[in-house]
Amino acid sequence: MGWTVPYFDLRLEAEDKQAVLDVLDRAWLSMGPKIEAFEAAFATALTTPAAPSVEAVAVTNCTVALHLALAACGVGPGDEVITPSLTFVADANAAVQCGAKPVFADVVSRDDWTVDPASVARLLTPRTKAVIAVHYAGYPCRLEALRTICADAGVALIEDAAHAPLASHDGRSLGTFGEVGVFSFFSNKNMTTGEGGMVVTRDEALAQRLRTMRSHGMTTSSYQRFRGHAFAYDVLEPGFNYRMDELRAALGLAQLTRLPASNAARRDRVLRYRERLASVEGIHVPFADRDGDYGFHAVPVLLPEGGPDRHTVMDRMKAAGIQTSIHYRPIHTFQAYEGAGPLPVTDAIAPRILSLPLYPHLTDADQDRVVAALAEAVWARAA
Ligand SMILES: *Cc1c(COP(=O)(O)O)cnc(C)c1O
Repeated sequence: MGWTVPYFDLRLEAEDKQAVLDVLDRAWLSMGPKIEAFEAAFATALTTPAAPSVEAVAVTNCTVALHLALAACGVGPGDEVITPSLTFVADANAAVQCGAKPVFADVVSRDDWTVDPASVARLLTPRTKAVIAVHYAGYPCRLEALRTICADAGVALIEDAAHAPLASHDGRSLGTFGEVGVFSFFSNKNMTTGEGGMVVTRDEALAQRLRTMRSHGMTTSSYQRFRGHAFAYDVLEPGFNYRMDELRAALGLAQLTRLPASNAARRDRVLRYRERLASVEGIHVPFADRDGDYGFHAVPVLLPEGGPDRHTVMDRMKAAGIQTSIHYRPIHTFQAYEGAGPLPVTDAIAPRILSLPLYPHLTDADQDRVVAALAEAVWARAA
């Protein structure tokens, strides 16, 4: 499909390609110097006076990052994990992977699509072991309230910061407020390694456990043994193989270097979208008054009530060459998870949610095409 404006457009630079080629030349492909450098650079980038010691653990993707985070926080069979329903299904799947039950919370309002702390508080039970809070589209969720609720209940707060690498709130990096933060480097995220993820924590013992569990529960790595630092290993507890490889780590390092600039470009595009969308009658833009060092990962809008249904709008935009997406169909409406609810805010907005194209190099002209096509799709008389 030759889109005039695709939903996302990945642009790799010469330094990205060179970084990967350099690893191939050296022919050490997993768990070596690039992983160490990528983890160190990511941890340093998230370090602030409010969170002065951050450790980062690179993994295969953000879904296993969630699984690893929950497992390292002791989530197991019979436990409950509270997650918003308005998020990617990985948040619920990871809980199930641990043998736990996902419990779905509502979001704050039609302006703030992050998890509602009051809804979380109502869903706490003696079986609750963790709360997953998603920084939807890179906007910080209600961290102060969530931290208080989780601390009082003695449950782990896990930040799903898949949309928010290098984003911050009150000068502190997202991902460093809770017990654990997780990031995604999937192809269409703010930075990419193709598939990839990162787990961060301020807790040294937890970091050690995450590292051990990432690699089968083993005490040493093949790279440590290669360097002569060790020749034997023990297995401390049953673990996983969730290791990232050197090729991805090298790509990640190159991407991380450009991330501040590309996040700033995303912000610029989002602010311009808000300005243009204000003139489209009936379109509601959530988070419209939120500005800061955020992830600006997506541009979700709410279609007007009583207008054409979302399917029609998406079809009309497709006919105009414009690709749109949906973030998200609520998890509790999928067959595998149905039955939860009611979630009044989520249920009210879900059928009318639409995400517009966004990438750092989206041009003014293409952005104007998107906005014009949206107005046309919503207000055109039915054929
Ligand atoms: C992309 C995404 C994930 C999963 O990330 P993968 O790296 O693709 O496994 C989890 N949560 C959210 C909010 C995401 O957007």
